[in-house]
Amino acid sequence: MSDCIFCKIINKEIPGKIVYEDDECMAFLDLSQATYGHTLVIPKKHYANILEVDDETLAHVMKIVKNLANQIVEKLDAKGVNVLTNEVAGQTVHHFHIHILPRYDENELKIEFTDHSNDVDLDEVYKKITK
Ligand code: AMP
Ligand code: ZN
Repeated sequence: MSDCIFCKIINKEIPGKIVYEDDECMAFLDLSQATYGHTLVIPKKHYANILEVDDETLAHVMKIVKNLANQIVEKLDAKGVNVLTNEVAGQTVHHFHIHILPRYDENELKIEFTDHSNDVDLDEVYKKITK
């Protein structure tokens, strides 16, 4: 038996509002409902985060994310979505998952990018990543 809360939902050991399920993945409502209809999509096989998930599983999960995002936008009459995943930084459940966050207005959710362009040498970053 796994200690992972999302594996428990997959194994139906604890309840979840499951909105989609197939052999490889599952989607259920996020308890926090950061925005109305906030949904998580996860592979059934346990991977800690996006850095570890295998390519085929990721491709399948992303396809389901796209399909569900369209379904959620349509059914909930949202304007669009944010799609995001956390790894280590910000991640609280260490079973790879993608958040679908339906959006209705500009100010309901803050995902802020601070502009550090004055402090960062783009050439240096470029060289570090590509060398
Ligand atoms: P993260 O910070 O990316 O690891 O997000 C984990 C998410 O899982 C949070 O948004 C939680 O609200 C959500 N969560 C935790 N436990 C449950 C659960 N039992 N059912 C549904 N969502 C959950
Ligand atoms: Zn798990």
